[in-house]
Formats: sequence, C-alpha cells, structure tokens
Amino acid sequence: MLKSKVALITGSTSGIGLGIARRLASEGCHILLNGLGDREAVEAIRYQLETEYRVETYYHGADLSDVEQIGSMMDFSEKAFGGVDILVNNAGVQHVAPVEEFDPEQWNNIMAVNLNSVFHTSRLAIPSMKLKGWGRIINVASIHAMVASPYKSAYVAAKHGVAGFTKTVALETARSGITCNAVCPGYVMTPLVENQIADTAKARNITEAEVMEQVILGAQPTKQFTQVEDIAEMVYFLCLPSAKNITGSLQTIDGGYIAA
Ligand code: NAD
Repeated sequence: MLKSKVALITGSTSGIGLGIARRLASEGCHILLNGLGDREAVEAIRYQLETEYRVETYYHGADLSDVEQIGSMMDFSEKAFGGVDILVNNAGVQHVAPVEEFDPEQWNNIMAVNLNSVFHTSRLAIPSMKLKGWGRIINVASIHAMVASPYKSAYVAAKHGVAGFTKTVALETARSGITCNAVCPGYVMTPLVENQIADTAKARNITEAEVMEQVILGAQPTKQFTQVEDIAEMVYFLCLPSAKNITGSLQTIDGGYIAA
C-alpha cells in the first residue's frame, strides 16, 4: 500500500529512527535517511536497505540544529522526488541535570533538535503534500510530551511543545489528506537511554543499577522496554488508509507508564 512513497525519517542512523526506516522500506517506501554519524556506517545501512528491500535510499546529513541545513535537506527532497510523502520527525537528544545546573547550550540544542526542527521540516514538507492531497507527518515525541520527570527540563519542555505543534498542524491540514500524529514511547533501550543512565545516577545520587530498576523499569508497570520494532509498527499503521481519520493524536506505547 505504501509502495514507492517517499519517506524522510530524521535521526535514522540509529535506534528508533533506523527501525522505522527498515519497516517502511520493507513496505516498498523509498527512504531518505538523516542523522549524525560515520559515513561508512550510513553507507552500510543504505546498502542493506537497498539490497534487502529493493528500494531507493538516499542520505542527507543535515544537522537539525541548523535551520539552513534543514532547508537544504528539504530542497534536496523537493528536487529529487517532488517532496516527501511521509515525514517522520524522530531525531532527538537528551541531557539530564537539575534545572539550576542545566547548561544553556544543552538547552538550546535540545530545543533546536527536538522541537524547532519539527517545525522546520513540517513547514517545508506540507506544501507538496497539499499538492498531492496526501501526506503523513509522524512526530516521535515521548511520554514526556504528557508528563514530566525531574532533571529533564529541556527534553520535557521540547516534547510538550511537539505535542502542541502536532495538534495544531493536524487542525490546519485536516481537510487536505494529510494527517499529523505523535507517537509517545516510554523507555526503549537505545543509545539515547543508555547514555543518560550515568547522569541520572549522578542527579539522583543513586547507583546506575538503581536507575535501571527504580527510574527506568520502575516507571513502567509491565517492567519491559518497548522494542524499536513495536514503535516502527505503530508508525507504519499511522501511514495506512485505515488510519486516515486519526489525526492530532498522541499515541502512547509505554508499558502503562501514563496509566500508573
Ligand atoms: P538515538 O540516540 O538512538 O537516535 C537519535 C538519532 O537522532 C540519531 O540518528 C542521531 O544521529 C540523530 N540526531 C541527534 N542529533 C542530531 C542532529 N543535530 N541532527 C541530525 N540528527 C541528529 O535515540 P532514540 O532513542 O532512537 O531516539 C529517537 C527519538 O525517540 C527521539 O526523538 C527520542 O526523544 C524519542 N524517544 C526515545 C525514547 C527511548 O527510550 N529511547 C523514549 C521516548 C522517546
């Protein structure tokens, strides 16, 4: 059903974004990868997707904290395929520290990557989606788009912003064949989570083992991490014709985190 649609997944060189790229490629979507990282590793991902799924793949290394680089990536998508059909705003970064010690540069970077880039890619993708009368914008937010945790002020603020932006875009595009939704995972074991364990231990004055037990799995009644593949499946579902009337929604996939 999605064969030959073009999907841009930001932050798809790792973790959840890479899982989403794989899932959409497996449905025949052509993939525009984006993210930081080693060029050889990116080429290996491209090669694997192209040979396994017989789709075209491209890579644009735009740093999403830079508006001009986002513009150049979206220009590339316009020139190469007349714009993207599916935009998955997935790239994200995290920093854990008490608010009074929070480095303002980290704050600005989190706002730029986790929130501002979602605005810029969306504003530049929507015109061609409107022309085609079809589009899917899926923002990988977080349960932190709905609830807070201490020591994650920038991340929580940015993700709450993504929730509001998602709803606003959904209203503005409601009659144009475009849907805009957010996927809100609890904890998924990716480099983003692995890298915050030490800082969380420091901020809370507990051991790393206690962070895992009390903070991470402690917050999820199922005591299980969500798998990257489960999130990719949810994104795929939101692209299907049967999801055409789902818009402006925040879809949790969190092992009961929000319910508790
Ligand atoms: P990850 O660290 O594995 O991947 C992050 C991706 O973003 C990478 O490809 C990285 O290169 C890219 N990225 C970071 N800064 C960038 C920049 N300036 N420009 C371009 N790309 C940049 O993390 P992940 O866990 O896969 O996170 C993906 C998304 O899922 C994020 O938005 C994150 O907030 C969200 N999320 C993750 C979890 C979790 O538990 N892992 C939970 C809820 C939400």
